[in-house]
Amino acid sequence: MLTCDVAVVGIGGVGSAALAHLAQAGADVIGLDRFSPPHIHGSSHGQTRVIRMAYFEHPDYVPLLRQAYRRWNDLQQATGRQLYFPTGVLQVGPEQGEVIAGTLRSAQQHQLAIQQFSCEQIAEEFPGVVPPEDCIGILERDAGYLLVADCIQAYLDQAQAHGATIKTDTPVRAWKHLGETFELQTDGEVIHAKQLIISGGAWATQLLADLNVPMTILRKHLYWYANEASTYTRQAQFPVFLLETSGGIYYGFPQFDNQGVKLARHDGGQPIASADQQTQDEDPADRQAVETFTAGHLPLLSQKLLHRQACLYTVTPDHHFLVGTHPQHDGLHFAAGLSGHGFKFASALGEILYDLATKGQTNSPIGFLSPRRFS
Ligand SMILES: Cc1cc2nc3c(=O)[nH]c(=O)nc-3n(C[C@H](O)[C@H](O)[C@H](O)COP(=O)(O)OP(=O)(O)OC[C@H]3O[C@@H](n4cnc5c(N)ncnc54)[C@H](O)[C@@H]3O)c2cc1C
Repeated sequence: MLTCDVAVVGIGGVGSAALAHLAQAGADVIGLDRFSPPHIHGSSHGQTRVIRMAYFEHPDYVPLLRQAYRRWNDLQQATGRQLYFPTGVLQVGPEQGEVIAGTLRSAQQHQLAIQQFSCEQIAEEFPGVVPPEDCIGILERDAGYLLVADCIQAYLDQAQAHGATIKTDTPVRAWKHLGETFELQTDGEVIHAKQLIISGGAWATQLLADLNVPMTILRKHLYWYANEASTYTRQAQFPVFLLETSGGIYYGFPQFDNQGVKLARHDGGQPIASADQQTQDEDPADRQAVETFTAGHLPLLSQKLLHRQACLYTVTPDHHFLVGTHPQHDGLHFAAGLSGHGFKFASALGEILYDLATKGQTNSPIGFLSPRRFS
């Protein structure tokens, strides 16, 4: 039987960050994963993730975003790797729509620097973008993208360098609270941990079933298209973009290597009953919707598909995260239900889980993410 101070179940986006924070502080920590992160079976793959501060989802995330930016910066400094690329993020949509109204609300409440454009100005300033009718645009310059696999690898390297034990291809089949400790059952052994962190992504629906918060797993698709006109590139200072249209919310990234321009639809998705049912199969209707979007709004982009991947969103009823200590199991801490917008926060959530596991509390404002809001 193995023993440790803290066990981290799931060392993908959030768990790798928690593991590194714990190891750096000298904790005796074991990280376990059913695959070998970074991998393509969960929610943290596909080259890039958007990071932005003027948060349309809710202004209460902004302090956590400030923390996340600081911690990503620390990771870059410590590893000497560039993980964050501040290309700017352009958001376009109707003034009263979810994206623009929410972004303005966060920017005003937290005095964030943004630049506003009329529909005509968008077409002038960002050649290659045909905005939807009656929309406005907001450019946030200190925003951009993170290299998703590199972030995870950097945290895992840091954790290992500080003495963390990492067990990959080791699914945790069950956990039990024994009062003073938690018992984890893997295929080969039993592990006892004084504190338990569950950061299992889409498998949280199983691992944290007793939180009794219904979470929906959605298959989502990422596409990379050829950029034959060379318009939508980082070199040409094209920003990350997110457009709210009458046909859905679409976003994409400027090309920066030979993989093309990455595009995806944020709303929609195919529900599946369990993360174990994930496949890389195509969803023709989703692809059709993305290609209708590009034909209408990014007309210089080729329709030649270079590559695609499927990925998982784990969505709570209100699309906000579940973060905290388990109401029935003191010593069990979690970040789950990240609802398709959690990667940018992974650095902060890792630090918050470290706080909870080592100090029993955190100064980070996570109260609005407590699962108690559903009881
Ligand atoms: C297509 C797509 C686009 C997205 N775009 C953005 C974006 O632009 N910006 C943004 O901020 N967020 C975005 N997100 C959301 C973000 O990527 C996720 O919220 C985040 O990556 C989830 O991290 P996680 O650590 O919870 O899950 P994961 O990184 O999937 O990690 C969970 C880990 O737990 C392991 N695991 C599960 N069960 C067990 C078990 N029983 N035993 C051992 N290990 C286990 C898994 O193998 C996995 O490695 C996007 C998501 C998708 C799918």
